[in-house]
Amino acid sequence: MSEVKKCRICGSSGLYRFLDLGSTPLANSFLKTADVKGEHSYPLNVLFCEECGLVQLGYIVPPEQLFCDYIYFSSTSDTMRAHFASLAAEVLERFAGKGSLVVEVASNDGVLLKNMLGKGVRILGVEPATNIAAVANKAGVETLNEFFNSKTAAEIAKTRGRAKAVLANNVFAHIPDLHDFLKGLDALLDKDGVAIIEVPYLADMYEKREFDTIYHEHLAYFSIKPLVYLFGAYAMEIFDVKRVPVHGGTIRAYVQRKGAGNKATGEVGKLLALEKKMGLHSKEAYDKFARDVESLRDELLGLLNRLRGEGKRVAGYGAPAKGNTLLNYFHIGRGLLEYTVDKSPYKVGLFTPGTRLPVYDVSRIESDRPDYLLILAWNFSDEIIRQQSSYAKSGGRFIIPVPSPKIV
Ligand code: ZN
Repeated sequence: MSEVKKCRICGSSGLYRFLDLGSTPLANSFLKTADVKGEHSYPLNVLFCEECGLVQLGYIVPPEQLFCDYIYFSSTSDTMRAHFASLAAEVLERFAGKGSLVVEVASNDGVLLKNMLGKGVRILGVEPATNIAAVANKAGVETLNEFFNSKTAAEIAKTRGRAKAVLANNVFAHIPDLHDFLKGLDALLDKDGVAIIEVPYLADMYEKREFDTIYHEHLAYFSIKPLVYLFGAYAMEIFDVKRVPVHGGTIRAYVQRKGAGNKATGEVGKLLALEKKMGLHSKEAYDKFARDVESLRDELLGLLNRLRGEGKRVAGYGAPAKGNTLLNYFHIGRGLLEYTVDKSPYKVGLFTPGTRLPVYDVSRIESDRPDYLLILAWNFSDEIIRQQSSYAKSGGRFIIPVPSPKIV
């Protein structure tokens, strides 16, 4: 664990701490039993760089501790499968001609690259979690079980040539050494290659009070401003950016070497202007965010306590990492939430870190019929409510916690 004293993008020491979520266990360190002793917890607080605008954690847990036996499988979600299929189609159509190399960083179980099998491109995944890389390889998606860095990137370029497309979805926030990643990208990307980076967007997190997306694995929370700075430092540019509605609001940035073939769309300027208007480039906005988190806590605890007072039974839906930030910071334990359920077989049978709620299979909802389901995996609310239509028909209700607790 190391304390961040200088901005991890621009090196400035002008870091403003605006949110302190106390000390919590790692959000994906689910427990095998409810009575584990000596569960580790780590400080979780957030800084704003007044120089480049990067919002980042104040303490960093080494990635080796976080990602070696990871239990987030992208393929578990219908929404994400569809999202990646459409991105894969776009890459094939716009950026990766026959025979070209497509590399995906943090390729998970191959959920995206699978869509490119048999399409005439060479694909390679790079995935640090051993168990997940094994699943991808078994499915026919060649995957290196490595962290992507300047060393692995140079090795790939040497053995397979440079890549026409480098994809990095939902991983940028996890990278401790962004400069080393950029050096790797520089070594791997062809001169007319394109990197596509998807990362949860700070403007969405801010606006929708998605504070629970803050946990130790997410080392940074990106607006466009620090990304422009970072790529610029390596003679690269974001030539287009789109807002996409996954993970509570994400941006997809299209990056190329400065002056390469793709014409800039003007979208970067628009988002910069939007961020400025929202105040995201100055620290006052972050004080407001911290106050918003406090009101959210009052609202949600007020609601759960009221329901308990009325004798209602409440369970959780989903056991996502973010759920553990919310449960731990708001001190929502078994007194307020009986258990949670999850579709992932890797989580069923375990207990949530810190709060120690049992995680059951989703079939428990059908057999047990709690009165309310607090949707911890709120980024999949629509999907969950659709799948649980029979629960809803029999009178079950859902609570969506952010931006304000809402019963549907
Ligand atoms: Zn900075």
